[in-house]
Amino acid sequence: MTKYVYAFDEGQKDMKDLLGGKGANLSEMKRLGLPVPDGLTITTEACIDYLKQNETLSSEVIEQLTKQLDAFSNRTGKSFSSDENLLLVSVRSGAKISMPGMMDTILNLGLNDENVKKLADKTGDARFAYDCYRRLLQMFGEVVYGISMSAFDTYFNAFKAQHGYDNDADISAEGLQDICERYKAIYTEEVYKPFPQDPKKQLLEAVEAVFRSWDNDRARVYRDLNEIPHDIGTAVNIQEMVFGNSGPKSGTGVAFTRDPGTGEARLFGEYLLNAQGEDVVAGIRTPQDISTLKDQMPHVHQEFVEVSQQLETHYKDMQDIEFTIENEKLYILQTRNGKRTAKAAVNIAVDLVEEGILTKEEAVTKVDVKSIDTLLHPTFKEEALEVAEVVSKAGLPASPGAATGKIVFSAEEAKLRASAGEKVILMRPETSPEDIEGMIASEAIVTTHGGMTSHAAVVARGMGKCCVTGCSDLDINTIEKTITYQGHTLHENDVVSVDGSKGDIYLGEVETTNAEHSPSFEQLMQWAEEIARLKVRMNAETKPDIKMGYQFNATGIGLVRTEHMFFGAERLIEMRRFILSSDDTTRIQALNQIRSYQTEDFEAIFRLSGERPTIVRLLDPPLHEFLPKSEEEIQNVSQQLGISDIQLKQRIDELHETNPMLGHRGCRLAITYPELYVMQVEAIMTSVLRLKEEGVICQPEIMIPLVSTVEEFNTLKSQITDAIHTLETENNQKLPYLIGTMIETPRACMIADQLAEVCDFFSFGTNDLTQLTYGFSRDDAGKFINDYLNHNILEVDPFQTIDVDGVGAMIRTAVAQAKTVNPSIKIGVCGELGGDPKSIHHFNGLQIDYVSCSPFRVPGAILATAQSEAESRR
Ligand code: PEP
Ligand code: MG
Repeated sequence: MTKYVYAFDEGQKDMKDLLGGKGANLSEMKRLGLPVPDGLTITTEACIDYLKQNETLSSEVIEQLTKQLDAFSNRTGKSFSSDENLLLVSVRSGAKISMPGMMDTILNLGLNDENVKKLADKTGDARFAYDCYRRLLQMFGEVVYGISMSAFDTYFNAFKAQHGYDNDADISAEGLQDICERYKAIYTEEVYKPFPQDPKKQLLEAVEAVFRSWDNDRARVYRDLNEIPHDIGTAVNIQEMVFGNSGPKSGTGVAFTRDPGTGEARLFGEYLLNAQGEDVVAGIRTPQDISTLKDQMPHVHQEFVEVSQQLETHYKDMQDIEFTIENEKLYILQTRNGKRTAKAAVNIAVDLVEEGILTKEEAVTKVDVKSIDTLLHPTFKEEALEVAEVVSKAGLPASPGAATGKIVFSAEEAKLRASAGEKVILMRPETSPEDIEGMIASEAIVTTHGGMTSHAAVVARGMGKCCVTGCSDLDINTIEKTITYQGHTLHENDVVSVDGSKGDIYLGEVETTNAEHSPSFEQLMQWAEEIARLKVRMNAETKPDIKMGYQFNATGIGLVRTEHMFFGAERLIEMRRFILSSDDTTRIQALNQIRSYQTEDFEAIFRLSGERPTIVRLLDPPLHEFLPKSEEEIQNVSQQLGISDIQLKQRIDELHETNPMLGHRGCRLAITYPELYVMQVEAIMTSVLRLKEEGVICQPEIMIPLVSTVEEFNTLKSQITDAIHTLETENNQKLPYLIGTMIETPRACMIADQLAEVCDFFSFGTNDLTQLTYGFSRDDAGKFINDYLNHNILEVDPFQTIDVDGVGAMIRTAVAQAKTVNPSIKIGVCGELGGDPKSIHHFNGLQIDYVSCSPFRVPGAILATAQSEAESRR
């Protein structure tokens, strides 16, 4: 029989698939003897079954739950019907991978008209009891019956205003009792049924609602964004309530064991006295810094410090801990690996190695490769900040970054405007989980309420998005669409700049500067390089890009796309002269001119590369890409070349192809025009000779693209080597070089053994290989690939992440064949997949030597290769 319900003491931390992250960690903490309120977890399997069976709880689940509840009652000595020892519980979602705020939670479950009186009698605090009841009524109404939050809030706020109450805490017990009565009436008005008085019924309905919340829109969007599968379901945790709102010696809070913004090793968090969990997360009341707990309740603070250290060492990672204090007794309600900025992730990983908690191998796996991007991106220039007009400096640095954009006041507006290509800053009193898509679409998020653990802060940090919270000196009016600050007013569309690292807002656009690497980043990357087996080269041809790639420690160049060097005006005209004229002398002159440009270009590239291997790919694109397109261009070009419009148009027509990407391109060009590749090879070798005279030794690797037959390769190779021999003889010296091919067609994969016999190296061009394997045009697939993803026909876009079964299998076969006949052949990957972490993981499992990607992706690729290697050694 499948076990669907586990008591906390039956689980442990490795059972996340079944118990979810929260459930597994609650069990683990119970095992460690930490002060965790007792409870049960209903498994993710029960959720998956529930959703599959048209949202019905199976009798097995209900039976097991009933039995486990009885045992739970026996353990705690409490029950839903006891006068003396009343059981109240929280019901919370908890997926394997944490999805903060995306699914639902219900607190104080078990209260009803009877039990609220018992709670009041037992605690001698009617105000507290009715406060709990009104919270349950509201949460249950929203989560289980879908009653809108505003139905309750409008009444609550009107009640406060009518009685002149500023704070929730000012409302009397009688007032709260009235509010509860009104809330119950809202049920009948909105959903035509009363609030269920039977606690068992409440519980079953709550469990079902949490299961259903797995599939709500915001949870789906969050999962898409974070690449979390949709079919793993959530667990539900039912836990005995402890009350942070039971008086001035009670409270609730969230704390990180290190600063999640910077990684600094200090307890970082907030709490609210006399409050329940949602008050902190929702950011409605502004909480106090955790350090002040030392003055309020020193022994609770001390105990919390000890527990947090114990948890961090046990989990070998920075923890995000939820706690509640009930009458000066500390309870831990949750622990998980804390979300953090990229900067913090790097600092924490390095510190934990230095503190002896992590090995270097473990440390490199702690940093999310995708987040590395944010370390490489700009911040505001100090000089520009000094003269910029300050809108607010009162905010909290919730998530670092520097962003400029136009103000918008709602998530919908943000989404709409961003999809029209505008850069927007979402500014709101606070955000809620429904705002997720608008947050994704915005450059930055600013809120006036809430602390460092509010929804906006947590979600933005997770996304690596710039965010400032708690800008209490701004008055944001989302109805009027205005923001008032220091006597000034901002309107929709006004431009502001947001500094998420400092928590500041400026008027207008502020100039940015490039990111600087921290010593920890350098250290982590050094470990990554030590651990990585695959080398990482760059795809680059311009000087700034090459310099950047080498700053990021690329080990060479994996792809110089020579066609990128033909688009300067003076080069283009010579190329056009070569392609378009029918007179041989003119064509040779043009080629000579191009040769001298190319020699200069290659000289610059090899000078930067020095001894590092540099692959130059010979011309690849179809020739028509170099031709004039508009009527005006055609006129100009015909004049420049001294031929008539008619002749030019005729030649353009001759070169027209229906499917140019499958047409006259790659090595096929050189079969027709051998002089093209010969010219390029002469330019490469001439530049190598020039540099040699200066004492610079280079390692040129000449690459022939789009080969499908060994005869193609052999024909071109012999022309190339002839040209090189001539140069060697003329200069009376041996030149260093390798000649290899790109593997970009399925046929090339299938004859890899034949090619390997005559090639010095292979480089898999996964862009073309994917295009040709699927028959998906790489230029047109964007139009339909989303439909494939939305219908789950494809799990990932194969142009971004390797298709393991198809393209991946083809590469695997080709590598194996090649190595059999030529064990020393060098093999790399230079398509886009060469910079994608998941694809890199696949490539690391093959006998290849390197991946190559654009310079900005180099650090991420190094880290990904190290992570893959570290994982494979575990
Ligand atoms: C490839 O096809 O993967 C490749 C690197 O070449 P290009 O993208 O230039 O066609
Ligand atoms: Mg290609």
